[in-house]
Amino acid sequence: MQSYNDPLHNLIYNTDASHFENNEKTEVFLPKNRNKVIEIVENAVKENKKIVCRAWGTNLVGNCLPSKNTIVIDLSALNKILEQNASSITVEPWLTTDELNDILDKYDLYFPVQLWSHASAQIGGMIATNWAWMRAIKYWKMEKWVEEMEILTVNENKGIKIQTFNADDAKDFFWAEWGLGIILNAKLKLIKKPESTSLTFKDFDNLDNALMFVESVKSKKNSELSALEIINPQVSQAVWLENKYYVIVEYENSTDGEITDKNEIKEIWAKRDACYPATLNLWYPQIEDPELHENIDELFKWCENNNIPVYGHIWIGVLHPHFNSEQKELMDDMYTLVQELWWNVSWEHWIWKKKQKYLSEQEKNQIKSIKEKWDSNDVFGF
Ligand SMILES: Cc1cc2nc3c(=O)[nH]c(=O)nc-3n(C[C@H](O)[C@H](O)[C@H](O)COP(=O)(O)OP(=O)(O)OC[C@H]3O[C@@H](n4cnc5c(N)ncnc54)[C@H](O)[C@@H]3O)c2cc1C
Repeated sequence: MQSYNDPLHNLIYNTDASHFENNEKTEVFLPKNRNKVIEIVENAVKENKKIVCRAWGTNLVGNCLPSKNTIVIDLSALNKILEQNASSITVEPWLTTDELNDILDKYDLYFPVQLWSHASAQIGGMIATNWAWMRAIKYWKMEKWVEEMEILTVNENKGIKIQTFNADDAKDFFWAEWGLGIILNAKLKLIKKPESTSLTFKDFDNLDNALMFVESVKSKKNSELSALEIINPQVSQAVWLENKYYVIVEYENSTDGEITDKNEIKEIWAKRDACYPATLNLWYPQIEDPELHENIDELFKWCENNNIPVYGHIWIGVLHPHFNSEQKELMDDMYTLVQELWWNVSWEHWIWKKKQKYLSEQEKNQIKSIKEKWDSNDVFGF
């Protein structure tokens, strides 16, 4: 089986969107189909090598990077649509949601877990990191939209096992960044394409007023609410808005929001989409994703007092503070604060090596037992 271990492949497969420094010598495989994937896994197991799967590498915590004695399997050839009907589609792992929704468009169907990295993140990577984004208010995470998965694992006797599970039975795979096995295909649930959306887009001179408005939107419990986002002034200016707080409210109907013009809506979302690259351009490359159910104003103010630009999915309590290279210690302080306030160190980008030090003993034990259940020989992941 052809593999690559030259400097260029080593460089590419030691890099992802995380800024996580990794420099392991690795061997990269690009199997042409699932039978080749199985062959590669069998050989790796015989040679006592570890395996990490690689999709597009858009994760932000380094979770597709190889460790010592680890081969990389690039799954880019597993890109077929296997079955489709009016309520579901079964796909191999290498497909973006843009590609998926282009295919579904002519049937007036839609896969609703829409993401920022929609043009590059692949279904396999999205499942393994339980992808979610701002429309999680309405559609939640990947785990809600997968019906079944066919999964390759290595059993305790080092034999290959390929099984189809319903999503509940394989729920650990929605956290498979730890390396539990390989998702070979997934049956995804579909909905009818939403007909229209409307937005309310408001600016505020201070955080308290912005948060009061957020609370008033939340208190209405409108089931058509599909996004509720906040941007702080430092980020607002980076995306060519005024030096103010902005709140974006999206409804999946044409009546509840104040703006219905499609072009205007597109322009507002383009500003929100620009928050990540624009904040990178301000030299704040490290994006984080703490989740708080209470006291979010405290974290917000802490960020601003420390010159940390911040925006996020305010309804579900997820903020995206960005750190620059001189603020590494502040990141530890932030997670200490998050722990004090009622915390979750990651809501959508996950943990991998980078954030392990912030996990509680209980979480570490939980990971150990999941790993033991699916991959007792520790073949996959780091
Ligand atoms: C600009 C930007 C914005 C983002 N915004 C969000 C956001 O709002 N919400 C959010 O949730 N995430 C966000 N992310 C990160 C998100 O986690 C990734 O975009 C996506 O989930 C990873 O997809 P990928 O195909 O690139 O996978 P990779 O990065 O290649 O891999 C991610 C993990 O999945 C595993 N994996 C990949 N394929 C398989 C498979 N077939 N079987 C088993 N394991 C597999 C890998 O081993 C690795 O552990 C963002 C990323 C970027 C760059």
